Amino acid sequence: MQYLYGPIKSRRLGVSLGINLTLPKTCSFDCLYCQIGKTNNLTLSRSEYVKINQIIEELREWVHNGKNDLSSMDYITLSGSGEPMLNSGISDLIIYLKGLSNAKIALITNSSFLCDSSLRKEISKVDLVVPSLDAVTQELFVKIDRPHEGLRIEDIINGLISLRKEFRGKIWLEVMLVKGVNDDIRHIRKLKEVIDRINPDKVQLNSPVRTVSEAGVFSVSRPKLKKIANILGEKAEII
Ligand code: SF4
Repeated sequence: MQYLYGPIKSRRLGVSLGINLTLPKTCSFDCLYCQIGKTNNLTLSRSEYVKINQIIEELREWVHNGKNDLSSMDYITLSGSGEPMLNSGISDLIIYLKGLSNAKIALITNSSFLCDSSLRKEISKVDLVVPSLDAVTQELFVKIDRPHEGLRIEDIINGLISLRKEFRGKIWLEVMLVKGVNDDIRHIRKLKEVIDRINPDKVQLNSPVRTVSEAGVFSVSRPKLKKIANILGEKAEII
């Protein structure tokens, strides 16, 4: 399979079939901790990087030839070897998937396009958005996520606040914590203020555990993650 992966069983999403909407590696960020590797196409330009009709074709084959049942999935997950909202056909794919089965749709996004109301509308029919927010100051945002120069963290935060107001589904905000980069308690307190304004359904704390291509990227210890979860409050969980 070229664009589909899985089904994968995870504690977070249950059994999910993944759909890759970008080519490696097309992203608006070049995160320190990215497991896919260096972003070679750092862009804010949306395009049908992966043709939606080819994804649909592969999906049809997977269902009919493999005799697989989409409705048995807990989620169909839109993600990618990069940022899935960069694919300009994402709303067509969501509409198609909604007509195909009752499986819930999850979108995993780095949040960079959520400040645009028309793009929030494009993804409004999914059931779950898992947006990420690793920093709340521009300085730290640049350090950890190494975004496209056109991105401002304040805009992204405002986009997340707007998403919460408009979106009917669930929002599970993911925070990737890297030791010595964004795990300082003063930053965590600022993060809490912002998270309270966003008001997601859950806050999921993560830390890089597998090998990443960058040197000097270390995971935050379990006791420190627990301390951070306590500061962030009852919605926070370590994944
Ligand atoms: S947003 Fe995701 S895909 Fe893009 S660089 Fe960061 S971790 Fe990698």
